Amino acid sequence: MSNIPEDAIKCLDKGFVRLVDAMGGDDAIVQAARVSYGKGTAKVSQDRGLIRYLMRHRHTTPFEMVEFKFHCKMPIFVARQWVRHRTANINEYSLRYSEARDEFYFPDPENIQFQSALNKQGRLGEVSDELKMKVRNYFEEISDKSFEIYSELNDAGVARELARAILPVNLYTEWYWKNDLHNLLHFIGLRSDSHAQYEIRVFSDAMAESVKAVAPFAWEAYQDYVVSGLRFSRIEQGLLEQNLPDRVIEDILEDIVYQITASLHNNKPREDHELFPLYQKQGGQDSEEDFKLKWDSGEILVGNVRELREFKEKLSSLKN
Ligand SMILES: Cc1cc2nc3c(=O)[nH]c(=O)nc-3n(C[C@H](O)[C@H](O)[C@H](O)COP(=O)(O)OP(=O)(O)OC[C@H]3O[C@@H](n4cnc5c(N)ncnc54)[C@H](O)[C@@H]3O)c2cc1C
Repeated sequence: MSNIPEDAIKCLDKGFVRLVDAMGGDDAIVQAARVSYGKGTAKVSQDRGLIRYLMRHRHTTPFEMVEFKFHCKMPIFVARQWVRHRTANINEYSLRYSEARDEFYFPDPENIQFQSALNKQGRLGEVSDELKMKVRNYFEEISDKSFEIYSELNDAGVARELARAILPVNLYTEWYWKNDLHNLLHFIGLRSDSHAQYEIRVFSDAMAESVKAVAPFAWEAYQDYVVSGLRFSRIEQGLLEQNLPDRVIEDILEDIVYQITASLHNNKPREDHELFPLYQKQGGQDSEEDFKLKWDSGEILVGNVRELREFKEKLSSLKN
C-alpha cells in the first residue's frame, strides 16, 4: 500500500487522489467535434463556444475523447460506492495476493453527526463531545482488534483471501482508476453533490481539481449547463405556462432581443445607423427613441447569440 505521494491530493485521514496521466483536453473535444461537423481548425475563442454548445445539447461523445488515469487510496466503504460507476477501468490492490496494512479510516470529530431525520441517507446535527469520543474509540478499538486477529491468522498460515474477511470496511484499499471525461463529469456530478456521502465527496472534489486543470472550458460548461442548469418536467412546464403572466415573458424576451443585438454588434461592429434596424430584425418592439435610451445606458449584457436565440425560443413556447 502506498504512502501519500508528493503530487497527490490528500483525502480523509490517510487517503489520496493522484492524477497519473491524462490524454487530451479541451482541444481533443473540439478536434473530435469538428470531424462530425466537417470543419477543420478554428480559433481558440470559437473552441469555448463549441464546447459550450456540445454540453448544452448533450452531444457527449467528443467529451469521451479525453481520458484520465488516477491513483487513489480510500476506505473500502468508499470504494464500494465508487465501483458502482461502471464505465471506469479499475485495477485494485489485492488482499488475496498481498497482506493488508494497518491503515484504517477514523472520522474527524466534526464529521461524526446524528442520523438525519429528513434525509435517510445523510447525517445532521451536532453530537456531544462525549459521544464523538466514544465513536472514535469504537472505530479504533474494532480496527485494532480485527487487525490483530488478521495478523494472527496470517502468521498461522491461513489463506490471505480468507483472513481478510475479518477486516472491517474502514480499512484502506487503493486502485488505479481510468475513465473518460464524459463519465468522470457524471461521477463528479453525482458524488460531489451535497446528497453524496461526505467521505466519497472528498475524493470526487479532489478529482474535480484535475478536470479543471486539464479541460477548463469543459469544466466551466459542465458547471453552467449541468450542475447549475435547470430542467423542467412536462408538469412543471404546464404550471409555468398557466401561471407566468405573458407580460413578464414579454419583458424578458425584450431584454434578450437587446442582448442578441449587442452580441451581434460585439461580434461584428455595425455603424450607428445600422443598430436600430438590427434590433428590429431580431424582433425588437421598442420605439427608436426608447431603443437609443436603453442602448446608451450601457446596461446591456453581451452573450452567445445562438444560446440567446435558443433561450428566446424556449421562453416564447411558455406564452399562452
Ligand atoms: C446519492 C446517491 C445515493 C445512492 N444510493 C444508492 C442505493 O441506495 N442503493 C444502490 O444500489 N445504489 C445507490 N446509488 C448508486 C446509483 O444508483 C448508481 O448506481 C451510481 O450512482 C452510478 O450511476 P450510473 O449508473 O449513472 O453511473 P455509471 O455506472 O458510471 O454509468 C454511467 C452511465 O452509463 C450508462 N450505463 C452504464 N452501464 C449501463 C448499463 N448496464 N445499462 C444501461 N446504461 C448503462 C448510463 O447512462 C449511466 O448513467 C446511489 C448513488 C448516489 C449518487
